Amino acid sequence: MLHRTEGIVLRTTSFGEADLLVTYLTSDFGVVKSFAKSPRKIKSRFGSSLEPLVQSRISFWGKEDTSLPRLTQSDIIHSFQSIRDTLSYFLKVSEIIELTLHFIPEREANKEVYSLFLNALYNIENNFNKNLAIIHYKIKFLELTGYVPKLDACGRCGRKGYCFYVAHGTILCETCSAGMVSSARLSPGVVKLYKDLLTWDTTKINRIRPSKMLLSELSSIIDMHTHHILTKPLKSSEFILLLSE
Ligand SMILES: [Zn+2]
Repeated sequence: MLHRTEGIVLRTTSFGEADLLVTYLTSDFGVVKSFAKSPRKIKSRFGSSLEPLVQSRISFWGKEDTSLPRLTQSDIIHSFQSIRDTLSYFLKVSEIIELTLHFIPEREANKEVYSLFLNALYNIENNFNKNLAIIHYKIKFLELTGYVPKLDACGRCGRKGYCFYVAHGTILCETCSAGMVSSARLSPGVVKLYKDLLTWDTTKINRIRPSKMLLSELSSIIDMHTHHILTKPLKSSEFILLLSE
């Protein structure tokens, strides 16, 4: 069966002698892995369309239950060459690629994540505050996938609070956190910045002008939270290994 959609290349790896395994974030099928036959040969019809971050109109072919359909067509819409050419930008984008691949299941459509990712790339390309674009993507992405931390009020009673507890993924007030050790203390400015980023969409966040300090404070909280979530499955798989020994 032939599928047509629009996709952004998240990752490309070698597959056999001359083939490539291309991982896309698509607008209609979520994350799709497909293989491209002999694209490394000269005069390949795929040209440079399989490089990371290239947005293309693609077609892939495979039976419904095929885990690895074959890429049959890929026409570039936008290449995002300037992001690939600048190592520091590309490294920043690599973080959100990894985050996206970890949380989005294969073949599960999520148009909102696709638009969010695409708009983040446009913002990064268009001389925008790159760090703001990245942190905005992370927060909105965590919200869309149900993993967003609660940083505006106590996660238990809703009262004001500024101490973040990473194991709970939330701020807790003094009463609710009695006897616990806080992971980080947030400044009121960070709480406000967080609320703004959650509320504003990608096309409007360039109106927010946070200081470098606030931005890095918020980034470290979000990274701490994400890291905590990402390491959970690894810990449990280690635990399972220990049990099976
Ligand atoms: Zn409370």
